[in-house]
Amino acid sequence: MDNFVRVRGAGEHNLRDIDVDIPRDAMVAFTGVSGSGKSSLAFGTLYAEAQRRYFESVAPYARRLLQQVGAPRVREISGLPPAVALQQRRGAPSSRSTVGTLTTLSNLLRMLYSRAGTYPPGAGRLEAEAFSPNTPVGACPHCHGLGVVHDVAEDLLVPDPSLSIRDGAIAAWPGAWQGANLRSIVSGLGIDIDKPWHKLPRKKREWLLYTDEQPSVLIKPERDRIDYGYMGMFWSARKHVMHTLADSKSERMRDRALRFVRSVPCHGSGLRPEALAVTFRGRSLADVNTMPFSELVTLLHPGAGASEAAVRLCADLVARIEVLLDLGLGYLSTGRSSTTLSPGEAQRLRIATQLRSGLFGVVYVLDEPSAGLHPADAEPLLDVLDRLKAAGNSLFVVEHDLDVVRRADWIVDIGPGAGEAGGRVLYSGPVAGLEQVPESATGTHLFGRAAPFEHVTRTPQGWLQLRGISRHNLRDVSVDLPLGVLTAFTGVSGSGKSTLLAETALLSGEFDRLVLVDQQPIGRTPRSNLATYTGMFDAVRKLYAAQSGYSAGRFSFNVAEGRCETCQGEGFVAVELLFLPGTYAPCPSCHGKRYNAETLEVTYRGRSIADVLAMSVDEAAAFLTDVPAAARGLATLREVGLGYLRLGQPATELSGGEAQRIKLATELQRVRRGHALYLLDEPTAGLHPADIALLLRQLHRLVDAGNTVVLVEHDLDTIATADWVIDLGPGGGDAGGRVVAAGTPADVAQVADSATARFLAPRLA
Ligand code: ADP
Ligand code: ADP
Ligand code: ZN
Repeated sequence: MDNFVRVRGAGEHNLRDIDVDIPRDAMVAFTGVSGSGKSSLAFGTLYAEAQRRYFESVAPYARRLLQQVGAPRVREISGLPPAVALQQRRGAPSSRSTVGTLTTLSNLLRMLYSRAGTYPPGAGRLEAEAFSPNTPVGACPHCHGLGVVHDVAEDLLVPDPSLSIRDGAIAAWPGAWQGANLRSIVSGLGIDIDKPWHKLPRKKREWLLYTDEQPSVLIKPERDRIDYGYMGMFWSARKHVMHTLADSKSERMRDRALRFVRSVPCHGSGLRPEALAVTFRGRSLADVNTMPFSELVTLLHPGAGASEAAVRLCADLVARIEVLLDLGLGYLSTGRSSTTLSPGEAQRLRIATQLRSGLFGVVYVLDEPSAGLHPADAEPLLDVLDRLKAAGNSLFVVEHDLDVVRRADWIVDIGPGAGEAGGRVLYSGPVAGLEQVPESATGTHLFGRAAPFEHVTRTPQGWLQLRGISRHNLRDVSVDLPLGVLTAFTGVSGSGKSTLLAETALLSGEFDRLVLVDQQPIGRTPRSNLATYTGMFDAVRKLYAAQSGYSAGRFSFNVAEGRCETCQGEGFVAVELLFLPGTYAPCPSCHGKRYNAETLEVTYRGRSIADVLAMSVDEAAAFLTDVPAAARGLATLREVGLGYLRLGQPATELSGGEAQRIKLATELQRVRRGHALYLLDEPTAGLHPADIALLLRQLHRLVDAGNTVVLVEHDLDTIATADWVIDLGPGGGDAGGRVVAAGTPADVAQVADSATARFLAPRLA
């Protein structure tokens, strides 16, 4: 048996029937420009196939569903071990998951408190479960373990108490027919619906808003509204809101209901009082949950005189926490909700957890592990990856950072371009051999053949004085932000860059406009896509309306008339699969076309509207040259390097980096001279150096048009092109939060205390 994974005839997405041999027990970098097909090979083919084989063997009942989702398009893969994916983008994490649950440290801490904790006199020992807010025995009875309670509030339910019920005083009640129904019921209950709300007796008001009772009333026929009498059931405002939040299938309804709800912290930890009374070395579990790892490690040091159980558990905890410290995550604590973590932080936590899991002989498939990392943090991460490899595993890493790529044992370079212009294996072998491949953009940058980015350093047009900022780890920070130039916020992970960016947004009053270009998805359902987000789809719909007798509305997949009814215009149907949350399969009726047959009969230059949605931006730009309203948007998308995306590509399939560039392109479309403030959090994450060069040109274009641009950034070549750098640190969490250096890149590169200086200096030479 040789030591290779052999792939034959891979054709997922844009891959062109490729054959490639990839070594096991090695670190393999998958490289290529964005959209070239790296993820389609690493995740869409190798990981997907490993996962499919796994489910086939352990869960035969899942087979039918797996068939529906479809196997990756590949003829054959041999030598493929089981795979674990450590991906950055994953569906919305739940509010119950925390750093402690993600890393499994919470389990150990619970055992420690259960077995080795100090109990109040007379209290009986508690099971480990009693220390978990996620079990019925441990959860605080008020907030059910969530740590926050959500409830309606009168000022939200009834924003204008001078209105009567008939005029809509209870804003939280539904509108239209249901609202009229409720008013009839209230009237039937003998309550005056024409009196201003605040004139009703307090008892009645409270009952209407909060009661759990649901009396039924006979509603008599009414002119213009109901022909027949019926029994109507009452819903208090709270009951209606809570029911909508818990049971409504419509996201819009839930969003509306959320407007009437306020979240207030329960006493915080989600634990019941008996569990909170137990201490370890003087600290309750709630205290420990908020303690940064850098302190926790000291508290847990296996001390003299401790019980055997305590020593063993502490030793295990300390060993696990030390890995987190190595990875530069000492500023996090177990209680931090996973919803507040950056993707890079979450991925490093998962990597650290895998290191202790004792698995060997598996392939770890990673998505840009260096994204979001300061060069000073990247080193220890690579050491941890080496340890995973040394434990007998293979690492398949989709990566753009050339310093990481250089450390790989093997490189699989896909290209040469994106989408249709990519999908071929340009090279597969040891890194040095890539130098001989002239058509590889990766090779061009890896071996220093790329032309440097030319620009002249600008002079600030004025200063925005940011004073006395205190938030998270920033304590009374004051800094001057230069206007009319490009500024980079730098510093190690957790130093406070994102916090400073968010505070800058709050203090940006003197600008004409504030534009945040972040990596949040452009939509959360497959119904939103590139064409709808950029507004270009309006032009396309008008075009198709003009070819037919139909209205433009018919060509919207949000309108029943023209869309496929099976999938309601999504093109996909959700498949409920226990292990694979949020899996979609192509719609069995329209096969992903989204429209019904009559709508698809309408054509422009021989193509239906579904055909247009299936086109890449590059193809559509050629097809729609005569439609100016669409052509402009398509041109800006090409300028930021997104020519390979398909117009109808669902928002849920786009990477964070792609979403960010779509937002940027949408902004560029409407750029006029002016004085806007653009804030971007790590715009280069997930981008190949060739794509970074494209992006930089656009960002500098914004500055040349008179705007101010601020980036949180780790990429040294990008930082080197900034006019001004504000370096935070020196460390993360409490060890950071100060301005260590501010000035031109050349100034900052001289500052001895700056963690960035050491890495930046060589790039300026
Ligand atoms: P990379 O990882 O190199 O950035 P991807 O493998 O994500 O590239 O994408 C390669 C090509 O496949 C692109 O043209 C992309 O638009 C397309 N693609 C990606 N995901 C899907 C999908 N789920 N369905 C169809 N096409 C896709
Ligand atoms: P950076 O962007 O430099 O990585 P951040 O601004 O994200 O740093 O974080 C700075 C500090 O603030 C860190 O100690 C981090 O743990 C803390 N922090 C960030 N976001 C939150 C939050 N939502 N709740 C509590 N602490 C936070
Ligand atoms: Zn359909």
